[in-house]
Amino acid sequence: MTDKIELLSLNAEELLRFVTEDLGESKFRAKQIAEWLKRGAKIDEMTNLSAALRAKIGEIAVANPVSIQESYKSRLDGTEKFLYRLRDGNLIEGVVMRYHYGDTLCVSTQVGCRMGCAFCASTLEGRVRNLSAGEILGQVVAANRHIQAQDAARRVHNIVLMGSGEPFDNYDNVVKFLRLVNSDAGLNISIRNISLSTCGLVPRIDQFCNEGLPVTLSLSLHAPNDVIRQKIMPIAHAYAYEDVIAACRRYSEKTGRRVVFEYALIRNMNSEVRHAEELARRLRGMRCHVNLIPLNAVKERNLEAPTKQDVAAFLKRLELKNISATVRREMGADIDGACGQLRRKYLSENN
Ligand code: SAH
Repeated sequence: MTDKIELLSLNAEELLRFVTEDLGESKFRAKQIAEWLKRGAKIDEMTNLSAALRAKIGEIAVANPVSIQESYKSRLDGTEKFLYRLRDGNLIEGVVMRYHYGDTLCVSTQVGCRMGCAFCASTLEGRVRNLSAGEILGQVVAANRHIQAQDAARRVHNIVLMGSGEPFDNYDNVVKFLRLVNSDAGLNISIRNISLSTCGLVPRIDQFCNEGLPVTLSLSLHAPNDVIRQKIMPIAHAYAYEDVIAACRRYSEKTGRRVVFEYALIRNMNSEVRHAEELARRLRGMRCHVNLIPLNAVKERNLEAPTKQDVAAFLKRLELKNISATVRREMGADIDGACGQLRRKYLSENN
């Protein structure tokens, strides 16, 4: 891979330096370039720059390091999946979901993942590499351009960092991405419209509390206690259940945001009413919400979803114990399964 400068990775100050120092141009060019970048333009498309200047930029820099290789749109609900290609040929995936309040984009933070959760497709071959801030932002910019081409009124309104990868295992780039996507010069997406999902790296949660980026923290809990959590999430050996919950309480107190606990329901593992009972006990008194996700069975894994009745009984027990909870609605059921599966399917079909 050439080591060209990724313009989308630069903040306003860095872009200004690029323009004045690397290009030797006057300052106002930075604004012009930023305007093009957020619209997903290629360098060749930046028509208010001279052809000579565009050629010069193209030699040393790239605009968006991410391009949409394939897209698949659901006929059921308009959900659209993307397979993105990175400059080194790596593939990542994402999905845009249409809700009444706007489009929500799910983005990836790493190629692969090294957290090793037993139910997840993204981690099957480990972590390939971290994504740069520009590669995370590039997904948003590319998806935005793609959906606006279909309907000019659409735009990415909410972002969930719930694609492949563990955001807190790529901490600096994720924090930089959040500042970029939120900036006035960038897409100006509100931090309140962003959710970050983590398997629970306790020191990082505490560090993140102090960044002044009060996103919704989604904590992948998936169990009511250490014993079960350790069976399905290797990270549970590193951080005790109580410590994870305590870090979430601190996050909630510091940011004023309610934490969302994600709980994948797995048959014969964590989905019985007694588990709901225990979970409610552990979360008592906390400002939180539980998001129940019936397992999206991955073919390489030997785990199954519980029955609809089991899911309903689990939800009912949480409600009875005054824990706010919902079952995640399945979207785009006709286009693909759990995250990480599209990339795997594509890789196996094209090798
Ligand atoms: N590394 C982050 C983001 C992962 S993906 C994290 O662990 O939170 C977002 C959510 O999808 C996580 O809660 C993850 O545990 C869950 N998930 C992954 N594979 C799944 C599957 N096959 N079925 C249901 N949920 C799954």
